Amino acid sequence: AAKADEGHRIQLFDVSMRRAADERYKCIEDLRASLTSGAFEVYYQPLVTVADRRPLGFEALLRWRHPTRGLLLPGDFLQQAESIGLMVPIGDFVIQQVCRQIQLWQEAGIDPGRIAINLSRNNFQLGANIAGLASAILAAGIDPAQIEFEVSETVTFGVRGEAVVEALVELRRQGFSIALDDFGTGHASLMHLRRLPVDTIKLDRSFIVEMVDSVEDRALVRAVAALGRDLGMRVLAEGIETEEQATAVRELGCECGQGYLFGRPMAADAATAWLSQRRRREMRAFSAGAAR
Ligand code: C2E
Ligand code: MG
Ligand code: MG
Ligand code: MG
Repeated sequence: AAKADEGHRIQLFDVSMRRAADERYKCIEDLRASLTSGAFEVYYQPLVTVADRRPLGFEALLRWRHPTRGLLLPGDFLQQAESIGLMVPIGDFVIQQVCRQIQLWQEAGIDPGRIAINLSRNNFQLGANIAGLASAILAAGIDPAQIEFEVSETVTFGVRGEAVVEALVELRRQGFSIALDDFGTGHASLMHLRRLPVDTIKLDRSFIVEMVDSVEDRALVRAVAALGRDLGMRVLAEGIETEEQATAVRELGCECGQGYLFGRPMAADAATAWLSQRRRREMRAFSAGAAR
């Protein structure tokens, strides 16, 4: 009987293992199919000046319109995509979408500002061809000054960190901008920061969340804002959700922001509408000022 029991347990274990493997396999199949079936979309979240909420541009953020699970965020699928080597084709897809959208905006006479594109560690691995991404943008007739590449702080050191820094220097030489994403979550020293070819420091959302109640986080935001100013880098606070946070960020010397308070990530059409509404408001403010 003991033997039979054991056999039963092993079988159960087998079944659940197989189910997990099946699900993983299904997800991988879905991911691959989605790349060609148009189920991936790029959303755009506004980047603004905190003081007067002037649009500076948008961050391109990947979304997956899953056939049964609805609209998925990168947190739901990016790791899986990474584990099966899909980050390079996904990167190509995002670049292609962004280029097309910039062209559409140009044709409509709309200036969207600078568009930020996220790159992951995979985009810098041997054979990933970061230069290919850059030349695809140039081949599309897009001014590199319109594109900012975002790289997480942690990608710039550790394994292949040196190669990443070199690739960033080259991108910058071609006229692209570079943003250091999720700043403050890794272990980048200030010495390291000084060596990096960076235009924008993106202060991680975790500091903004705690800032209103935390003296330490406020001190850090102030220090990074001052450092950015001295090094000639733009400092942008991520994840601003409340007026209180916006005020605090501004008082600490950080001029740029991103967050639900200003605008959520949205589909391209909604981003266009958001932009024209902003511009109309600016025009009104301008003519009101001129009339005074
Ligand atoms: P990230 O680059 O730091 O992007 C900012 C994330 O913060 C986005 O999450 C955005 O929706 C979210 N966010 C913005 N404002 C607020 C706010 O006020 N409150 C809160 N709670 N969240 C806010 P999302 O879109 O889920 O993306 C997560 C991460 O996935 C990104 O973090 C980025 O690392 C990665 N990712 C997104 N799109 C791409 C892509 O096209 N390529 C690559 N390689 N990574 C991407
Ligand atoms: Mg980012
Ligand atoms: Mg970020
Ligand atoms: Mg972040």
